[in-house]
Amino acid sequence: MSAMETQIHQYNRVVIKIGSALLVDRKDGLRHNWLKTLCRDIAALHQAGSDVLIVSSGAIALGRTVLHDTSLGVTTGSLRLEQSQAAAAVGQIALAKAWSETLSGEGLVAGQILLTLGDTRERRRYLNARATIDQLLKAGAIPVVNENDTVATSEIRYGDNDRLAARVATMIGADLLVLLSDVDGLYTAAPDTDPNARFLQRISKVTAQIEAMAGDAGSELSRGGMKTKIEAARIATKAGCTMIIASGKPDHPLRAIEEGARHSLFEPSASPVSARKKWIAGQLDPIGRLFIDAGARKALLNGKSLLPAGVSKVTGVFRRGDTVAICDLEGGEIARGLAAYDCDEAAQITGRKSSEIIAILGHSGRAAMVHRDDMVLTQTLPAPGDVQARQEETG
Ligand code: GLU
Repeated sequence: MSAMETQIHQYNRVVIKIGSALLVDRKDGLRHNWLKTLCRDIAALHQAGSDVLIVSSGAIALGRTVLHDTSLGVTTGSLRLEQSQAAAAVGQIALAKAWSETLSGEGLVAGQILLTLGDTRERRRYLNARATIDQLLKAGAIPVVNENDTVATSEIRYGDNDRLAARVATMIGADLLVLLSDVDGLYTAAPDTDPNARFLQRISKVTAQIEAMAGDAGSELSRGGMKTKIEAARIATKAGCTMIIASGKPDHPLRAIEEGARHSLFEPSASPVSARKKWIAGQLDPIGRLFIDAGARKALLNGKSLLPAGVSKVTGVFRRGDTVAICDLEGGEIARGLAAYDCDEAAQITGRKSSEIIAILGHSGRAAMVHRDDMVLTQTLPAPGDVQARQEETG
C-alpha cells in the first residue's frame, strides 16, 4: 500500500459527504454520469461489508437549475433565505429521485432522511433519528441525508453539510467520514496564491495551528469552505472517527482514493469506549467460551462480527445475552462479547454458514454469533501480518 492509499472498505461504517459542486453543474444540472460512477463505488463498498451513509448537498444548487427561467427567478446571484428555501424544496425532490434511481441501478435501496439542527441537539429527537438510521442500515439500505433546508431558519440551521455529516457520523458510530468536494485536501496556505503552500497528507490532531490554516486555504463553490471541514474534523476525530478530505472530481472518486489519489487524512483521537462496552469488558467471569479459528480471529481484529462459520467449539452453559469469552484454539482470550444464542443453539450452528441457520434451528436468528457492537477485544496485539487492531472504535 502506498503512502497515499486508504482502504475505505476496511472501515465498518462509512459516511460520505458530497458537495453541491460535484453533483450539480450550473448549466447542465445534475451530473448523472459522474453520480453513476460514485454509486458503483458505493455498491462495491457495501458489497465488501461496510455500512454506507450518504450526506448529499445539492438541493439548493439543483433547485436553481430546475427553476431556471421561472417566475421565482432564483438562478443568478446570491439568494435570500426564502429563495434558497424555495430552491431547496424543488431541488430536494430531484436530488432524492437521482439518488434513489442511481443507487437502485446498482441494486441498492435508498432512504431519505432530512435533519434539522434540533434533531442532533435534543436527546429525544437525536435518539429517534439514530434509531431510524440504524434500522435502515440494518436493512442494508443506504440512508441519504441532507439538512431540511425548506424549514430551517438561519438561527436553527447548520447551513453547511460538512458539520452536519460529522454530527451524523458520530451519531451512528461511524469509523470513517469522507468529505468529497472540489478541494483535494488541506494545505498550509492557499495553494493558488502562495507558492510555499504545502499539502498535508496526515493530520494527527486538530490544533489551533491547523484551524488557522483553514482560514487561508480552500475556495469551494458551495457553502462550506475549508473552515467547516476543519470543524467537522474536530467533531469526528474526537468521537474516534477517521476523516478524509478528498477531491470528488474524478469519476469513481472512492476507488480513486483507494488507488492512491491525493487526500488529507485526520486521525481519530483515542476512541471513547461506550458505557456498554466498558460493562462487557468488565464482566469478571464469562460463563461460556467460544473457540475460533485463525480466519475468524483476523476478522475480529479487523473489527468484524463473529460468525458461526468461524467458531470451532463451544463450552459452558450460557443463555443468549450472557457474556462469553472468545478464544483462539489454544485457549488464549481474544475478545469478550454478548452471545446472540443460547449455548445449545450455538453448538448446533458452530462451523456452519449463517445462511444455514434457519434450516438448522428452524428460525432465523442473528447472522453473527457475537455482533461487533456487543464485543470488546481484550487481546490488543495482532499477530504479524494482521491489520493493526482497531480495538474500540470499530464498535
Ligand atoms: N443543504 C444544502 C443543499 O442541499 C447544502 C449545504 C452545503 O453546501 O454544505 O443544498
